[in-house]
Amino acid sequence: MQANILAEAGVPLGKLEAVGFAMETVGRRLLRFGGVDVNTAIGSLEEQLPRIGGQIDSAVIGDIPAWEDGSMHIMVVKSDLGASDARLNFCYGRSRYASGNFIVSAARLNEEEIIGATVHEAGHAVGLVSSDMPQYDGNSSFDGHCVHECVMQAVNTLEEMRRATRHVLGNMAVAGFCDDCDSHLQKVHLA
Ligand SMILES: [Zn+2]
Ligand SMILES: [Zn+2]
Repeated sequence: MQANILAEAGVPLGKLEAVGFAMETVGRRLLRFGGVDVNTAIGSLEEQLPRIGGQIDSAVIGDIPAWEDGSMHIMVVKSDLGASDARLNFCYGRSRYASGNFIVSAARLNEEEIIGATVHEAGHAVGLVSSDMPQYDGNSSFDGHCVHECVMQAVNTLEEMRRATRHVLGNMAVAGFCDDCDSHLQKVHLA
């Protein structure tokens, strides 16, 4: 599978490399696809994206076709992310569930924290965590998270994003996913 990273010019190189590193780490668990080839392109991405005030509107992720070309598509923006369709002041990243697509902002996250954000959003983008899965967290304030010690636990604060990153870097062989989430990764198919 291909993971195509499209980054806004001016996103610090270290953060962009961290996103690529995170996608390669997730890709090694997508065993059915033989891993993921990560391609990175830099351009004037934000000119094409809708804004709400000073933020990029993360709802745009819903407009991108699912599994286009059988690839994952990842947008990395410099600006902060908002959400015209949710009651959020900001978000670190946003996925279109099970579509292979997500957007992540470099505005509030450092080179380590963006690793946790990327793996977490990639998890949503491949279908984690739906309510029919045993690890589904029915008490989370946001839908779609994992009850276990896992990169797919709900992330509402910077400290929780740092925890997500610790899961990834502390369990590199499984990219920070728990057993239940990892077993989902083995079953991912392109819708
Ligand atoms: Zn999430
Ligand atoms: Zn999990």
